[in-house]
Amino acid sequence: MKQAEIVVVGAGPAGLSAAAAAAQAGAQVLVIDENAEPGGQLFKQIHKFFGASEHRAGQRGVDIGHELLEEVEGLGVDVVLDASVWGIYDGSTVAVASQEYSWRVKADRIVLATGATENGLSFRGWTLPGVMGAGCAQTMMNVHRVLPGQRVVMVGSGNVGLIVAYQLLQAGAEVVAVVDALPRVGGYPVHAAKIARAGVPIYTSYSVKEADGDECVEKVTIWRVDDRWQGVPGSEIELDADTVTLAVGLSPMAELAWVAGCRFLHIPELGGHVPVHSAYMETTVPGIYVAGDVSGVEEASCAMEEGRLAGLWAASAAGRLSVAAAVAAAAPHEASLARLRSGPFGAAARGGKLAMDGRRDEAWGQTLTRGGA
Ligand SMILES: Cc1cc2nc3c(=O)[nH]c(=O)nc-3n(C[C@H](O)[C@H](O)[C@H](O)COP(=O)(O)OP(=O)(O)OC[C@H]3O[C@@H](n4cnc5c(N)ncnc54)[C@H](O)[C@@H]3O)c2cc1C
Repeated sequence: MKQAEIVVVGAGPAGLSAAAAAAQAGAQVLVIDENAEPGGQLFKQIHKFFGASEHRAGQRGVDIGHELLEEVEGLGVDVVLDASVWGIYDGSTVAVASQEYSWRVKADRIVLATGATENGLSFRGWTLPGVMGAGCAQTMMNVHRVLPGQRVVMVGSGNVGLIVAYQLLQAGAEVVAVVDALPRVGGYPVHAAKIARAGVPIYTSYSVKEADGDECVEKVTIWRVDDRWQGVPGSEIELDADTVTLAVGLSPMAELAWVAGCRFLHIPELGGHVPVHSAYMETTVPGIYVAGDVSGVEEASCAMEEGRLAGLWAASAAGRLSVAAAVAAAAPHEASLARLRSGPFGAAARGGKLAMDGRRDEAWGQTLTRGGA
């Protein structure tokens, strides 16, 4: 069996940041990702990041990804790609499968940075080819250079829906409509304004009633929804469309934390069931840490800060960094996270992380003060 001081699962912004922080502290780090390329979501994000400049606003996700990769490579981190982690045993054995073979790694510490998965939406015809997640459409366009469809209905007007809708326009598709069941646009007005200027109608208080077609989507019917999100008969609008993209939220991809026996809380503002973690990013299973969307869906900026914290505390617990040094190194990342979460789209604004903090303390009890302290 292979050995590693710290195994990081996931090479997205959280995982790469965790790996960099741990390696900088002198730990031997192995990163495993099931994708062919590292970077997680970053390499499909060709748009400039929103938010404040201290959190890399104005930089494109793809450029941030390259910077992180260079940092990790410079620190001698071992990155294994095309390999899925499918199990964690006894809190320290990581089971991995790649195309050719299965193998195990014995890890002193594990950081889970597996990200999130897109939510679905059920309506008549939702299984027809042409109905897909907005992230899937983004991967097709920006990674594989394939236009997912010609005439697209985007469901969801949060930042993901608005940004992907704009990228669909840039790639040459017609965005027939953006629809949202909420009475107002969910994302930044600047993104909504770009869509509106391009002539795309945004229907708020509307949802998809059904998608029709023989072998794939040929027509989409939307209808108004009342304040209980029930469709209003007679308000239907038929749209000539071949694609429906769903940007209706994300859920933490936390299966490995379940398998490892971590305790969970259900916090809707963070995307559903999230593994409880301490201020050191450690879960209720000693030695297993979480960072990024898996610990509650936020943004890449938060994922990178949480990754730095998880990497620092894992390295400290492995004896690579004194507690005093870890506290000092963690302070700027904690402060940055607090600022991010107080922003208009931060988890604190949605009540999420605040709720997490309250309920986390309750679930965690005494152990909140363990870990590196
Ligand atoms: C359209 C869109 C626009 C966005 N714009 C912004 C923005 O402007 N600013 C911002 O801050 N954020 C933005 N975000 C959010 C941001 O992309 C995510 O919050 C961020 O990528 C989360 O990072 P992560 O490392 O937690 O997860 P991810 O980036 O999803 O990385 C997780 C990695 O884990 C790997 N993995 C998962 N399970 C396994 C397994 N079992 N074995 C091996 N590998 C595994 C995956 O392959 C993936 O590479 C945007 C998101 C979208 C969809």
